[in-house]
Amino acid sequence: MTTPTSNGRVLIIDSTPAVHDQFRAALSMQIDRAGPGRSDPPASGRRHTDAITAPVSFVVESATERHQALTMVADTLESNEPYAVAFVEMGESPWAEGIETVRQLWEIDPDVQVVACASSGDQPWNTIVGALGRSDRLLLLRKPFDADGVWQLARTLSHKWSLARQASIEMEELSRHAQASTAKLEEQIRLRAEIEEELRHLAYHDPVTGLPNRTYLYDRIEQCIQRSLRTPGYRYAVLYLDLDNFKLINDTMGHDRGDRLLQDVAQRLRNCMRSLDAIAKIEEDVAARVGGDEFIVLLEGIRNPSDCLRVAERFIEILSRPFRIDGKELIICASIGVATSDREYLRAQDVLRDADTAMYRAKSLGKARYAIFDPEMHSAAKRRLEIESRLREAVGKQHMRLFYQPIVNVRTQELIGFEALFRCTLPGLDMNPQEIINVAEETGLILPIGNWVFRRACRDLRQWRTQYSHAQHLRMNVNISRRELAAERLVENARNAMADNHIPSELITVEVTESGIIQDADGALARLRELRDLGVQLHMDDFGTGYSSLACLHNYPLDGVKIDRAFTATMISDQRYIAVVKAIVTLCQALNMRITVEGIETPEQLELVDSLGCDSAQGYMFAKPMSAEDVVLLLEQTPDLRLAA
Ligand code: C2E
Ligand code: MG
Ligand code: MG
Repeated sequence: MTTPTSNGRVLIIDSTPAVHDQFRAALSMQIDRAGPGRSDPPASGRRHTDAITAPVSFVVESATERHQALTMVADTLESNEPYAVAFVEMGESPWAEGIETVRQLWEIDPDVQVVACASSGDQPWNTIVGALGRSDRLLLLRKPFDADGVWQLARTLSHKWSLARQASIEMEELSRHAQASTAKLEEQIRLRAEIEEELRHLAYHDPVTGLPNRTYLYDRIEQCIQRSLRTPGYRYAVLYLDLDNFKLINDTMGHDRGDRLLQDVAQRLRNCMRSLDAIAKIEEDVAARVGGDEFIVLLEGIRNPSDCLRVAERFIEILSRPFRIDGKELIICASIGVATSDREYLRAQDVLRDADTAMYRAKSLGKARYAIFDPEMHSAAKRRLEIESRLREAVGKQHMRLFYQPIVNVRTQELIGFEALFRCTLPGLDMNPQEIINVAEETGLILPIGNWVFRRACRDLRQWRTQYSHAQHLRMNVNISRRELAAERLVENARNAMADNHIPSELITVEVTESGIIQDADGALARLRELRDLGVQLHMDDFGTGYSSLACLHNYPLDGVKIDRAFTATMISDQRYIAVVKAIVTLCQALNMRITVEGIETPEQLELVDSLGCDSAQGYMFAKPMSAEDVVLLLEQTPDLRLAA
C-alpha cells in the first residue's frame, strides 16, 4: 500500500447542505485556476518534493454533523485516502460545537489541515486559538466566502499537507536507513572486536594447550619486576619446568599423542594451581607454555619465601603420576628451575635465563628435581654450551676415538674382552667423558657418535682377531644410550657394522642403562629384542643406581648385569651392600644371567666379588681404559690372556 503524497481530498463539515454545494462549486473551478499551480517553481533542492505539485482538482466530500464527519475521517484514514483539508463550520457563537469537532477530528487524524468557518462579526479569532492552541494546521475563514479565496485556501493547504506528508515519509525512510546502517555498523564493530579479541588471544596463547605463551608471560614478568622495584617486600618467583623424556615420547609415539600429553600436562598444571592455596600463600599465579616441552609458572606476590619451593615440589609430584594416552600408561617427570625476585632483576629475560639455568642444574642432578638458581650456575650453563659447540665440531671433524677397558674372568683373571669407551680428541674437550656423553644425549649428537662407536669397535676387534690367534674369542662391549635405543636405525647400523667387519654377533655385548630400558619401556624393549635377535648379548649397565628393583629384572630380555662401581667401592666398608650383591647374584644365577662387577680397584674387592660368585670384573686394578694401540701391545705381551692383577 502506497501512501499518497499529493492530495486534493477535502471534507466539508457543515449542518447546511446548501453550504456544501457552495464549497463544491468553488472547488470545482479547477481548470481556470490550474495554470499558476503548474508553473510554480519546484520546491527547493529535494528530489521527492520536486515531484509534488499542488492539486489542480479536488475530491470534495461532506458531512452535516460531527459524528458522521468523524466516521468519514477515520474510514478514509484507514483506507489510506486521508483528507488533506477539512472546512469545519464553527456553529453558534462561542463556537463550542465547532471547536469540539476540530479537537475530535485531530484526535483521529492530527495531520488534517482545518479551516474553521465562522460568521463575520462572531467571536474574535483568539477564542479558537485559546481553545485549540496555536497551530499551523488551523486557519479561520469568515463568511461570506469568496469562491476564489476558498479555492486558493484549499489548494495551498492541500499542497502544504502533501509536503508535510512527504517530509514525514522521508524522515521515516531516513530513520529506517539510519537504523539499518547503524545495525550494520554495530555488526561490523562487533565482528571486528571479535576478530581483534581472537588475534589478541592467538598472539598471547599457545594453540596446543591453550595456556598463555612466552609473550604474555614476558609482559607479566616485566610487571612483576616493576612492582617489586616500587614495593618493598613484594616477591615473585619463576618456575621453569621441563618435561624429562618428552622428546623421546614424541619421537616414538608420534606428535598427535605428544600433543595430547602436553594438553594433559597443561590441565594438571591448571588443576594444581587451583589448589595451591592449601600449601602456599600467593596472590596470583599463571602457567605458560614457552617451548616444546617447557612450561613456566609465575608466582606473584609470594608472602612466604619458601612457598615457591613447596609449589615446585607439588608440581614434581603431580607430574610424576602416570599419564594415560590411548590406553597406554606413560611416565614422565619434570625438572624445575626456580629463580626468585631476591636477585633484584631488571629484565624479564634475565629471570627466565636464570630459571632455565637452574632447570638444567636440576636435570643434571638426576631429573624429577628442582633447583634454585645461584650465580655459580651461570658458569655451569656456559660450560655446557661450550661443550655442545665443541662436541659438534668434534663430530664434524671426526675428532673421536675409542678407549678400551679390559674385562676379565673373576676366577682365572683371564682377559675375556673389552668395553669400548668414547673419547673426544678435540682440544678443550678433555673433561669427564660422562659429561660429554650427557651433552651428546641431550642434543641428539649421541646418534652419529653411537653409530661411529659401534663401527669403530667392530673394526678394531676385527683387526685384533686378524692379527692374533689368541684374540679369536675376545668380546666387545658397546654402550648404547637411551636416545639411541629409541632410534629406529640402531639395529640396522649394528647389523651392518658387524657384517662389514665379519664379527660374529655373539661376540658383541650391548650395555644399556636401567633408565634407558624403563623409560618408554615398550619402544626400548622392542629395539632390545631386535638386537637380541641379531645374536647380540644384552647387559644392564650401572645396575643398582637406577630405579628398577630386583624383581623387575626378569621383565627384560637380558643376558647379564653390570654392578655399578659405586657398589664395589662401598662393599668393603658397608656389610649391607654385600647382602645386596649376594641377592643380585642369586637372582641372576636363577635367571641364567652373567654378573660383571665394575670398578675393581683392590685385591680385597676382587676377592670379595669372587667369593660372592660374580663372573667377570673390570677396574683399574686390571687396567685403565687404553687406546687401540695399547690393546695391541697388551695382546702382544699376554699370549695367555692372563692379566697380571
Ligand atoms: P660405564 O659404561 O659405566 O663405563 C665405565 C666407566 O667406569 C668408564 O668411565 C670407566 O673409565 C670407569 N671405570 C672403569 N673402571 C674403573 C675403576 O676401577 N675406578 C673408577 N673410578 N672408574 C672406573 P668413562 O670412560 O668415564 O665413561 C663414563 C660413562 O660414559 C660410561 O659409563 C658410559 O655410560 C658412558 N659412555 C662412554 N662411552 C660411551 C659410548 O660410546 N656410548 C654411550 N652411549 N655411552 C658411553
Ligand atoms: Mg658401560
Ligand atoms: Mg657402568
